[in-house]
Order: sequence, then structure tokens, then C-alpha cells
Amino acid sequence: MATPSGLRILLVEKDIAAADRLTATLKDIFPDCLTVNSVQWSGDALRFVQSETCSVVLMSLGGPREIDGVVALKAAAPGVPLIAIIAEDDESFALSVLKAGAQDCLYACQMGPQLLSRSIRYTLERAHAQEQIAYLAQYDAVTGLPNRVLFRDRLEHALAQAQRKRARIAVVSIDLDHFKSVNDLLGHEIADRLLCDIAERIKGQIRRGDTLARMGGDEFMIILEDIRDFSDAANVAQKILDVMARAFVIQGEEMFLTTSIGIASYPASGIESTQLIKNADAALYAAKRSGRGCYRFYDPTMNEYADERLKTLTRLRHAISREEFVLHYQPVVDARSQSVIGFEALLRWNDPKRGLVSPGEFVGLLEDTGLIIEVGNWVLRTACEQQKLWKEIGLGSFKMAVNVSARQFRQRDFVGTVALIVQDTGMDPHDLQLEITESLLIDNMTAAAAKLRALHTIGVRFSIDDFGTGYSSLNYLKRFPLYAIKVDRSFMENISEGRDEDAIVNAIISLGHSLRMKVVAEGVETEAQIRFLAENGCDCLQGYYYATPMAAADVEKWLQNRTAEGDKSAGLRFLGRDAAAG
Ligand code: C2E
Ligand code: MG
Ligand code: MG
Repeated sequence: MATPSGLRILLVEKDIAAADRLTATLKDIFPDCLTVNSVQWSGDALRFVQSETCSVVLMSLGGPREIDGVVALKAAAPGVPLIAIIAEDDESFALSVLKAGAQDCLYACQMGPQLLSRSIRYTLERAHAQEQIAYLAQYDAVTGLPNRVLFRDRLEHALAQAQRKRARIAVVSIDLDHFKSVNDLLGHEIADRLLCDIAERIKGQIRRGDTLARMGGDEFMIILEDIRDFSDAANVAQKILDVMARAFVIQGEEMFLTTSIGIASYPASGIESTQLIKNADAALYAAKRSGRGCYRFYDPTMNEYADERLKTLTRLRHAISREEFVLHYQPVVDARSQSVIGFEALLRWNDPKRGLVSPGEFVGLLEDTGLIIEVGNWVLRTACEQQKLWKEIGLGSFKMAVNVSARQFRQRDFVGTVALIVQDTGMDPHDLQLEITESLLIDNMTAAAAKLRALHTIGVRFSIDDFGTGYSSLNYLKRFPLYAIKVDRSFMENISEGRDEDAIVNAIISLGHSLRMKVVAEGVETEAQIRFLAENGCDCLQGYYYATPMAAADVEKWLQNRTAEGDKSAGLRFLGRDAAAG
């Protein structure tokens, strides 16, 4: 029997002289590797096992009344083996000690060094074996990943939580195509190493809280928790396909594997663990049937969506370098004087296949993939350059409003990037208005406030876009240096008809003013709306009544036209070329 290494024994003995004798015996038995901690009372022992690591407890018991101490210690540290020492050769007492959870019970009157040594070694070996068994029952021995049993357990747990939080989950089933032939060709040992590499690659593509399990053979499964919608699962699946497509180096040779993936999502494709696992597997077989090396959803409509999304994404990736993005500009008008005070820059994608595409169709994709950072910076630079140019050619000194996405705003160097663009383009920072949404401020108030303040000091202004659709609490807005709020266009439709919208818009206007902010109405389409808004003190107006968003060249014509015909009526008669709007 091997000598255990790094042995730490906790001795529980009321008699100090007896404790010293026992410690000396223990040091004789395990001369090089032993630490003994000695306590007198079971209460101290309890505190010890709760705060320290310990290999085994040796506990001397004076009589049956002290069995409670054994029970308490086993409850506090079930993994630490306990050997009891009782004074007399009393079989029934010994049996109740073992029943209470002790691994062994020795009689003090018979206990020599040999017996003590054997008892400690056997007890430790048994504890180790039990630990192994418990581990193997839940984990895969080759990769160290959770196995099928633990996977199911975690899935049940995740489902219960998702039900409470009304969250979404995806179960992703992964299978390596033709892995059997790798096994046959290269042998188990190499195949096992390959499985570990594969596990590492997959793990790199999921979040830390997600579970990756090896279900057996070449099958893996993932639980993706808290996904926003199924396209998140599609993103992860695609990333896994991408990393798995890279070569594996085995014995100096490159080897390629293809992977198939099936996805079932909760609650759309099932609400129970068994059903979800079965449906993810069914989707996996569909992926294999449709040519391998791809992912499929259990629900066929999700496949169509995911396919379409993937294609669009590929084209979007090229859109920047091919200069397919353009900006259109929509005028913002002063409600009282009806003169143009600024423009909002709105992004369009000039897709060679479909023509002008609205941001509603692709900004979400740009956000998900992080492409929005690059595109957003391009938007900001282009809009600033345009503003500067209009000023230089004498068209007017307009405010320029630019939409900023959450992902852009959260970039650590956001403030620096904006400052640099303003500086590079030579634009007056007071003319720049960044439009942000409420949710972006709520997410991390402290960081958001710091960014707003930093840009505010150099003169850049901020407005809250789509106000009224989010939290709509003007109270928290007080702490941010904000210039304006833009009332969402959904309120405009029924305005001036004496309905609820009238009261809401009025409340927003007066609250905005009480916080010294300008109020801008979006989506103004009729004269009745203009009259209502102007009468109720709204500061600025924007909408199709004046003009749809227009290409820069059209803005010049529109402005000239407007000057020639008189401010108020010109807008309606001019139709800018913004095929994407409305
Ligand atoms: P938004 O910032 O609230 O922009 C106003 C939207 O309302 C624009 O839609 C505009 O064309 C539309 N609109 C203006 N007047 C009227 C009207 O009288 N009636 C109606 N029905 N609609 C009107 P668009 O251009 O499709 O943009 C949609 C959203 O996409 C924008 O909403 C903004 O959130 C986002 N977006 C646009 N450009 C960018 C950009 O450069 N970056 C980012 N991150 N988001 C952008
Ligand atoms: Mg906007
Ligand atoms: Mg808006």
C-alpha cells in the first residue's frame, strides 16, 4: 500500500496527554508527510473542517452520547473520512458509530501503530475510490467534460430557470463526420487526444456559463443559456463550424474533419429536456443529410431565416470595402420659424442585388457581428465631412444628428474616436448631435455618464432617440448632460385627435422643458400634427411632411427649392430620392 502524500490529520481528543501520545505514534507511522492538528472538542473540530482542508479525522469518543459529534462532522464535511476511537471493546457502540457515518472504529485498548496505520490507509483509499466513482458518474474520462448524465441534469436546471425568467435556451448537438475512420486508422490513443483538441476548440466558442458535454463517441452537446433569439444559436453554430474546419495536426500531419450541427431551441422546438435532446439530434441528422459541414434547426422556418441571414451577412462584410453604404439626410425644422436647423444622417445600404435597403433590415446584423463599429465610424466621419462641406460652400450651418448604436457606445475608446473624427474633419463640435437610446444609458449608468460628460465638455451634444418606447423615465435623465429628446414617431399617428397620445406628447414636452431639454418630434407627416406640436411648445419637427431622407446632392436642390417657394409649402411638393424610406 503506498504512503499517502501530504497527509493532514485532525485529531479530536479531550485528554491532552493522550493526544500527545497519539500524535507521536502518527509521526512514527508517517514520518515525512504528516501534519497533525489537534483539538479537544467536537465544536472546534466542526469549525476546523469547515474552514480548512483535511485528509482524515481521528476522533476519540468517550461514550454513546458523543455520537452526535460524528453526525455533525459528517454533515459538515461529507467528503472527509472519519475514524472513531472508543475506549472499550464494545461491539454495539462500535456499530452505532459506523452507522452514524464513521468509516472505521478502533478500540483504544487494542490500538497499536500497525492497526492504526492500516486503518488510515484503507480509509483514505476507499475515500479516493469513492471520489473517482462519483466523478466518473458525471464526467467523461477522456475529455474531462460533463457526460450525458450531468448534461441532462444541467439541462433540467437550465430549463427550470428559463421558465422562471421567460428566457430562451438552445440545445446544440454536434457530431464529427467520419470520426469512426479516424479511430480505426490511427488507434484509440490518438483519437482520444484529437477528441480533447476538439473539445478545447468548441469550448473556445461558447460562454463560460454554457455547458459543453461529451455525450459519447464523437457526439457533443451544448446548452446555450439566455439567448436573445435563435440567430444567436446560429452564430455560435457557425463559429464552431469555422474553428472545426481548420486543420488538426496529428503526428506532424494535417488532418481535416467536417462537423454537422443540429439545433433545437426552447421553447419553440420543445419544452422538456428529453424532447429537446431528441429534436436537436433530429436536426443534426437533417444537417448530415443536407450535405454535412453545416448546421440545421429543428424548426424548418428557422433554417430559412438562418440561411438568408448568413447570405446577407457575407454580403454586408463586403459592403464597406465596396463602398455600398451611403448616407441620406433628413431635415429637422424649427417648429416656430419653420426654418431648417439641421439634418439627421440615416444609413442606407445600396445592395447591388436589391437596391437601397433600410437600416431596420441590417443594423441588427451589424450589431450582432460587431461590424457596426467600423460602419458607425464611417457614418460619423462621412456625416461630419458633409456638414463641414455644406458650411464651406455656403449652404448653411446646420446641426448634424448621427445615430450611435449601443455596441459602438460601449467601446472603451468611444470618446476618443468621436473626438478624433471631429478634430480630423474640422467640424465645430457644437454642431454634432449624437442620438442614443434610453436602454444604452440604463445598462451602465456610471460608465455612460462619464462618456457623456467627457464629450459634453468638448461641445458635442446628445439626444435621446425614440423617446417613449423604452423606460421613459425622465427622472433618471437628470443625471446626464442631455440636449434633447426625440419623441418617437409612434405617438404622431393619432395626435391632435383628442386621444391619449395628445396627453402623452404634452407630458413629454413639458417634462423635457422642465429639465431644460429641447423636444424634437419625429415622423411628422401632416399639417394638423405640426399645428398641434407648435401650439404645445414642441421645439423641432422632423418628418415626411418636410422631406423624406435624401441623398446629399438632393439636399442642395431641396434647400434651393424651399428658399425659392417659401419655407412652409415647399417640403410637400419635393420628393427626395429615398427609395428605402416609408
Ligand atoms: P431613427 O433614428 O428614429 O430615424 C428615424 C426613422 O424614421 C428613419 O428611418 C426615417 O426615415 C423615418 N422617418 C422619418 N420621418 C418619417 C415620417 O414622417 N414617417 C415615417 N413613417 N417615418 C419617418 P430609417 O432611416 O429607416 O432608420 C431606422 C432606424 O435605423 C433609425 O431610427 C435608427 O435607429 C437606425 N439607423 C439609421 N441610421 C443609422 C446609423 O447610421 N447608425 C445606427 N446605429 N443606426 C441607424
Ligand atoms: Mg435617430
Ligand atoms: Mg427615432
